[in-house]
Amino acid sequence: MQRQTLIIGNWKMHKTIQESCAFVKHLMTLLGPTRAQIGLAVPFTALAATAQVIQQLQAPVWLGAQNMHHMAHGAYTGEISAGMLLEAGAKFVLLGHSERRHLFHETSALVNSKVKRALEEGLRPIVCIGETEQERNENLTQQVLHKQLLESLEGISTQQLKKLSLAYEPVWAIGTGKVASAEDADQVHHFIRQCLAQKYGEQVSSEIVIQYGGSVRPDNAQQLLAKPDIDGLLIGGASLDPLVFQQIIASWQGVL
Ligand code: PEP
Repeated sequence: MQRQTLIIGNWKMHKTIQESCAFVKHLMTLLGPTRAQIGLAVPFTALAATAQVIQQLQAPVWLGAQNMHHMAHGAYTGEISAGMLLEAGAKFVLLGHSERRHLFHETSALVNSKVKRALEEGLRPIVCIGETEQERNENLTQQVLHKQLLESLEGISTQQLKKLSLAYEPVWAIGTGKVASAEDADQVHHFIRQCLAQKYGEQVSSEIVIQYGGSVRPDNAQQLLAKPDIDGLLIGGASLDPLVFQQIIASWQGVL
C-alpha cells in the first residue's frame, strides 16, 4: 500500500494572524502540483483566519494546531480544547512534540489522554516521539522510543491507529542544525514500524505514515524522503519562509 507523503510545517510560537494569512497567499503563488499532502501547524490565534484564506484560495493546505488539552471542556485556564480547534478550522493536531515533553513536562501518559480525546472529537493526531542526545549516546534510542510509543498509544485500537500518524523527531536534531543521516533516520523509522507490527500486526503497521523531523532543509529533504520508511517531514525553522518551504516540497521526487 502506498503511504501518503506528508510535509508539514510547525511554526511554533511564530507568526501573527496577518503573517499567517500572507504566508499562505505567498505559498500559493509558488506551489506547483505535488502528490504530497502539505500541512501547516499554526498558532491557535491564526487558525480561523488562515482557514478562511485556505478556503478562499482553495489552497491544498491541511491546517492544524500544535497542542491541545485532553479534556473536552472545564476549568482549565489558558487551555484549548479539541472542539475549539476543530471549530477554528484545524484538521490535525501535533501531540507530544519534544518541546511540549521537555519544556512543559508532558508525559507519554498525558500525550495518550490527548490522543484519545483528539480521536474522539475527530481531530487527527500526529504523535511525536524522539530520544535526547544523552539517550542516543547511551544507546538507549530503541528502548526510549519503544516506551514512548507504547505509552502514547496505550489503549488505542487498530481502527483508531489508522486515524493517526507518527513523527520521529530526535530531540538533538530539533532546531540545532544537526540532522540525522537519512540512513539512521530510516533505520529508526523501520524500528518504529516493527514495534507497531508487534502490537497491531504487519498490515496496519505498513499503512502508518511516519514523518521525520529535525533540522530538515532544502538540501537534505530529498535524501530523507527517498528512504523507504520515511513518509514525510515535520519542519520547524525551514517552514517559516514560504520560499524555503516550497523548495523542500519541490525537492521531493514525487513532484508531478
Ligand atoms: C520541529 O519543531 O518539529 C522541528 C523539527 O524543528 P526544526 O525543523 O527547526 O529542527
